[in-house]
Amino acid sequence: MSFDLDEPVDTTIDDDLLVADQALFEVDGPVVAAPHHLSPSSASLFNQCPRRWRLRYVDRMVEPPGEEALVGTFAHRVLEVLLGEVPEHRTQERAKIIAREVWPETERHPDYRSLGLDAARARAFRWKGWLAVQGLWALEDPATVAVRATEQRVSATIGGVPFLGVVDRLEECHDGMVVTDYKSGRPPSTRFRDDKLAQVLLYAAAITETDGEAPVRARLVYLGNTIIEAHATPDRVGEAVGALRTTWDELTAAAAGDEFAPKPGPLCGWCPHAATCPEGMAEIQQRWDQGRLRADAPAAALVA
Ligand code: SF4
Repeated sequence: MSFDLDEPVDTTIDDDLLVADQALFEVDGPVVAAPHHLSPSSASLFNQCPRRWRLRYVDRMVEPPGEEALVGTFAHRVLEVLLGEVPEHRTQERAKIIAREVWPETERHPDYRSLGLDAARARAFRWKGWLAVQGLWALEDPATVAVRATEQRVSATIGGVPFLGVVDRLEECHDGMVVTDYKSGRPPSTRFRDDKLAQVLLYAAAITETDGEAPVRARLVYLGNTIIEAHATPDRVGEAVGALRTTWDELTAAAAGDEFAPKPGPLCGWCPHAATCPEGMAEIQQRWDQGRLRADAPAAALVA
């Protein structure tokens, strides 16, 4: 199937991109060995629910990335190639050509095939991907970006934590180096902005450690929506690193005792392990009974 853009579909993109982490843990007898690295997504998952973290990273239970995450992966890939072009070639027409070139990779991928999309849903998928790519132009002209690197892997010890991440984009701006991460989901409410920005501030800390040059700003580009950013001041970066350190300490303590407690909450509705988690099912049932379970939560099918 080609990357057909002739039939637009009105749809929105809901979820953040999830980048798969490497296997980070080894299991040795009854106790879980210390992790090798901590990435932002792994730290976020542990904070969301330690039991889910164990299921994913220790038990290696499969967590299908889901349609929206795959849409984000596709858009990231197109933008990575586009930003690798010389500035005058970073046009929407060129992006469409790249999208067509990149599409077979996505279409062949087992995660995409596992979605089992029919023709209409596959068309909607392609349109979501394209709308995410096109959404960059709503926020900036990529021809003006002074790219230093894209998809740069960063591995550094920050705050005593072995940190691992992949930076979507590093660029040179009027005031210095800037770290950028693309998002294809909805931007967070004001209340959660600092939490989301912590990811790119951690990248700034890791780059400072590895390159000896400190980024001046950290940005989250919500494709087609908005940009949120923070000055990467020592205080802000230090706060993000401190929170990472706290997560690391909690994680290593949980691993030492192999005690990964469930943490039921609204995201149980999207947890792929809900059916085998009594605490999660109780939470889902309670939310369903109270009319507080979102209709689009996959776990709704378990109690409906
Ligand atoms: S269902 Fe909820 S409590 Fe259970 S593992 Fe998943 S997120 Fe954690």
